Amino acid sequence: MSDIVSTLKILKRRFPNPGAMELGSPYQNLVGVMLSARTRDEQVLKLMPGFWNAFPTVEKLAKATTTQIESKINTIGMYRQKAKNLKKMAIDVVSNFGGKIPSTMEDLVSLAGVGRKTASVVLVCSFDKTAIAVDTHVFRVTNRLGWIKSKTVEDAEKKLLEMVPSKYHQTVNRVFVKLGRYICIRSPRCWACPVREQCAFNKKNLVAPKNANEILEDMDRREKILETLRENAT
Ligand code: SF4
Repeated sequence: MSDIVSTLKILKRRFPNPGAMELGSPYQNLVGVMLSARTRDEQVLKLMPGFWNAFPTVEKLAKATTTQIESKINTIGMYRQKAKNLKKMAIDVVSNFGGKIPSTMEDLVSLAGVGRKTASVVLVCSFDKTAIAVDTHVFRVTNRLGWIKSKTVEDAEKKLLEMVPSKYHQTVNRVFVKLGRYICIRSPRCWACPVREQCAFNKKNLVAPKNANEILEDMDRREKILETLRENAT
């Protein structure tokens, strides 16, 4: 337990920014995460100001036509399916939940286009609830660290929920996505990893390449761009 907490504290110092889709209200967080499925966060954040302008509330989104929604999100992948899901989600929220984004896992996953991962992000970011959203980054990094040995996302989520104190669930969602995006990539940059001493991975890549400084500068630049986009996206 102390290893888990100390690892998370180190990572929180290295990656202090909120998650890219922590946009403010539950409505904004939910829409952001729904749009970000299999899409780069930067692309989603760029279209957000125009989206909020057109659909500032879930009621406005419910009344919009699918074509109107598509026209605001057609720069990202799977936008037709995402537009359909957004409209259905908004209608459900208005008719079944009085226009308020629900705050339980059961209710959230009843909405169109909302799976456990999306629901977990909303629960932890919007409602301060216990939840861990296991995406590809969280799955890879926590297996490499040796926290879990899981072959499926479902098993990883169950184990992580048992082992990580609930106070740190939001931190898990924030820092592992960033560690996985910049450092613990497919061929990991262990030489740049702030938790390499805490990591159990047996194929660590500890030799920094000649262009290490450039890589580090690029990570910082990308993170700054993302944070600026996030701040401007609400
Ligand atoms: S030391 Fe390497 S494998 Fe372990 S978490 Fe860091 S980057 Fe990933």
